[in-house]
Amino acid sequence: MGFRMGSVDGRAVLAVDDVVYDVERASGGALPSSPRRAIAQHAALHELSARLSASDRDGAPLGPTAEVLLGPPVPWPRQVFGIGLNYRLHAAESGSELPSVPLVFTKFQGCLVGPTADIPVAAPTTDYEAELVVVIGTGCKDVETADAWDVVAGLTVGQDVSDRDLQYATKPAQFSLGKSRDGYGPVGPFVVSPDLVPDRNALSVRCEVNGDVRQADSTANMIFGVAELVSYLSSILTLHPGDLIFTGTPAGVGRTTGRYLQAGDAVTTTIEGIGTLSNRCV
Ligand code: ZN
Repeated sequence: MGFRMGSVDGRAVLAVDDVVYDVERASGGALPSSPRRAIAQHAALHELSARLSASDRDGAPLGPTAEVLLGPPVPWPRQVFGIGLNYRLHAAESGSELPSVPLVFTKFQGCLVGPTADIPVAAPTTDYEAELVVVIGTGCKDVETADAWDVVAGLTVGQDVSDRDLQYATKPAQFSLGKSRDGYGPVGPFVVSPDLVPDRNALSVRCEVNGDVRQADSTANMIFGVAELVSYLSSILTLHPGDLIFTGTPAGVGRTTGRYLQAGDAVTTTIEGIGTLSNRCV
């Protein structure tokens, strides 16, 4: 039946029929409270969601989904991958050739924050990047593209907030620090299992700043799709449950237009069938 898993106070929660349940308590202790360990049991999350939906709220919900303060769905993944230049129009606006293999960097885990967290703008060239984020559910190595969706627990929404000056401060450029300032990684609101989205290979991605649409595209236009990225990364290193892959951003970033983020800006990031991040710049 699918599931939507998030975190509250560092504990795994499930959103079912507009209310949120603590995973460990609602499962009677059968499932762990740690989001990273809970996502590793993604088959059990499907079953628990179905049971909670059928049980008429016997599982003692924490409250309505709209009223709980969510953290990032997996607050401390072992690995966070970012993919650069993964949409043709964004590669073009960056003046870059299309990559022949995925361009991979990391966002350090400490930058991850929840779906409504403030973004502390720490530099004048702070930019937005709306992205589909893949959440690994099954540890794996050397996964074939045809089997890659089997190891994916779900999908979520990410903002790959980037300090452009820092990202390009060295030659050759090293992206990771410029992508990892405190609070530069809003994620959420929930990891949504792929069976709940309309088309896992074609989802609309949109970013608005103060209500003005800056990015709008479909994940169908990614150069390397979800399955290819999972297969490629797993050909090099082991992927672990809870690992995140930020899959790249569409065209329309501030680096192209010169319109960077400033304190007071409201950034709204939406992916069809998954959810919305609402972050204020401070
Ligand atoms: Zn990005």
